Amino acid sequence: MTENGAFFSDRPADPGILRADVRRTEDFRDGGLRPEFLKDFLGQDALKENLSVFIAAARARQDSLDHLFLIGPPGLGKTTIAQITAHELGADFKVTSAPALEKPKDLAGILSTLTERTVFFIDEIHRLRPAIEEMLYIAMEDFELDWVIGQGPAARTVRIPLPKFTLVGATTRAGMVSSPLISRFGIVQRFNFYDRGALTRILLRSASILSVRLDPDAAQKLAECSRGTPRVANRLLRRMRDFSQIAGSGRITLEIVTEGLQRLGIDSLGLERYDREILLSILRNFSGGPVGAETLAISIGESVDTLEDYYEPYLIQAGLLQRTPRGRIVTEKARTHLGFPGSGSADAQTENEDQRLLF
Ligand code: ADP
Repeated sequence: MTENGAFFSDRPADPGILRADVRRTEDFRDGGLRPEFLKDFLGQDALKENLSVFIAAARARQDSLDHLFLIGPPGLGKTTIAQITAHELGADFKVTSAPALEKPKDLAGILSTLTERTVFFIDEIHRLRPAIEEMLYIAMEDFELDWVIGQGPAARTVRIPLPKFTLVGATTRAGMVSSPLISRFGIVQRFNFYDRGALTRILLRSASILSVRLDPDAAQKLAECSRGTPRVANRLLRRMRDFSQIAGSGRITLEIVTEGLQRLGIDSLGLERYDREILLSILRNFSGGPVGAETLAISIGESVDTLEDYYEPYLIQAGLLQRTPRGRIVTEKARTHLGFPGSGSADAQTENEDQRLLF
C-alpha cells in the first residue's frame, strides 16, 4: 500500500457487486466453491436436517425423492441444494430455467432425456408459461408426457411414459406460483438469509479452497456486509483477494476489507448505492412513506421485479424498510443510518449525501 493508502486503482466501483440476482461468469467458474454434499453446505440447518432425512428415506426405499419446492431470495443456495440432492441420491442432474422453456417441445425435449431418479431443476419456476405448466402437471403426477401428433382434425394426443424423476422447482416469488403447481410438490422448503456466523464459516471455507489467507476478523467484517447471502460473500471475497494482491501482501486483513468495502461503495450495514437510493427516495420524495412499489421502482430507475425480488427482502430483514398494505415505509433505523433523524426532515437533507452516508 502507498503512504496515502491509495493501493487501489482508479477503476470505478462495480455498481452491482452485491446484486445476488445477477449471476456472473465467476459464479459458473466457482465449481470448487459450490458445495457438493450436504456436509459442506453451511447454514440453513433446519432445511438441511429435513432434506437429509427425506434423501436417506428415498435412498433406503431405492425410490425417487418427492418433488421439492425451494423458496428464497437469489444467491442463498437453491441451485446448490438441487445439485447436492442429485449427488446425495447418486442421480443425474439436469438444469433449466422457466424463461428458457418457450414452447412445450422445449420441456418435452428435456423430459425425454431423464433417467430413473434424475433430479430435474427448474429455476424461476414462477415464470412458467401456462401450456408448459400443464405439461409439467402430468409429468410430475403421472410420470407421463402428453404429446400431440399431427395437426388440425387429424391431431391426436399420445401419452409417453417417463422414468420416475424428482422435480426441484425454485422461486424467489412463492406468491406468483399457481396453487395447482405448488400442490404437486411433496416437499416445500424455505431459505432464510444467513447469519453472520454461517457466512463467516462459508467465507473461511471459500478462502481455503481459493488458497487465500483470510484473517478471522476480516472474514467477520465481510460476513456482516454480505447481505446474508453466500453468493455476495464469495463475490466480495474475490474482490478482496484482488485488492490484497495489489497491496502486495496477498493476505486479506481487516484493513484491506475496510478499505475495499469503502472503495466498492458498500457501507457499514452492507448496503450498496441502490439500497441507499431506495431509502433516500422514500425519505426525500415521499416523506418516509408509505409509497407503492411501482412508484418507488420508477423513482430509482429499477424494475418492480428487481425491487421486490432482490432489494426489498434484505432491506426488510435488516429492519430498514417495512411493507404495509398502504406501501413501503422507511424505519427509524434507516433514518438514523442515513442521517435523517426524526420524521419530516427529509427535505432538508439533499447535499453530499453519498459522501456523508458511507461509514
Ligand atoms: P440460488 O440458486 O439460490 O440463486 P446458488 O445455489 O446459485 O443460489 O448459490 C450461489 C453461490 O453461493 C453458489 O455458487 C455457492 O458457491 C454459494 N453457496 C450458496 N449456499 C452456500 C452454502 N450454504 N455454503 C457454501 N456456499 C454456498
